[in-house]
Amino acid sequence: MFITFEGLDGAGKTTQAERLRRKLAAAGWTVVATREPGGTPIGDQLRALLLHPEHRDMAPETEVLLYAASRAQLVRQVIRPALRTGAIVLCDRFVDASIAYQGAGLGVGEEAVAAVNRLATGGLRPDLTFLLDVPVEESRRRVRASRAGQGLDRIEQRDSAYFYRVRESFLRLAAAEPGRIRVLDGRLPADAVEQEIWAVVVNCLRK
Ligand code: C5P
Ligand code: MG
Repeated sequence: MFITFEGLDGAGKTTQAERLRRKLAAAGWTVVATREPGGTPIGDQLRALLLHPEHRDMAPETEVLLYAASRAQLVRQVIRPALRTGAIVLCDRFVDASIAYQGAGLGVGEEAVAAVNRLATGGLRPDLTFLLDVPVEESRRRVRASRAGQGLDRIEQRDSAYFYRVRESFLRLAAAEPGRIRVLDGRLPADAVEQEIWAVVVNCLRK
């Protein structure tokens, strides 16, 4: 089973992925948890390139392809091998993030980004995706608070209009695939979100 977490920065993806990993492991499942961009040595170098605050001149198409390259490597080196052994794979962001951030946010086009990513993933799709939804202002506030003292990464520096497009795109994707993408209110306490996620996952594992 392949489970992904999506949403704006500060929505709680990393926290919830870690909580789910711990619970599944405690229940006896083999779990492989990863994130992108990154998750492999090549992917980590691509991540550094993508997030470097000084690369302001990166072309949108370059950005799409670098995220896709990191993902291609992660799918082949980590995700598919783990799924083949029967492990549950948890991934902090996946294709939906590219469709929302680059397809809608940057205006590259959601379908163009989806097509590039079909190549990158070889068609691999999550069985289940948790979209942790928070309003743009809340996301901005949480990012600023968590980066106190350090600067924002290249993507985090974009203006609010960009993030409105990203959030709307995530919500559209969820509306189009309600069976796969479960929208959760990221403003709820982490414990409440954790319980909702657990209920959905347990239900899926029983099937
Ligand atoms: O999830 P994480 O904080 O590690 O993501 C790193 C950065 O990459 C964030 O600023 C996120 O918004 C951005 N990102 C993006 N497009 C993607 C995936 C992540 O702009 N497809
Ligand atoms: Mg982040």
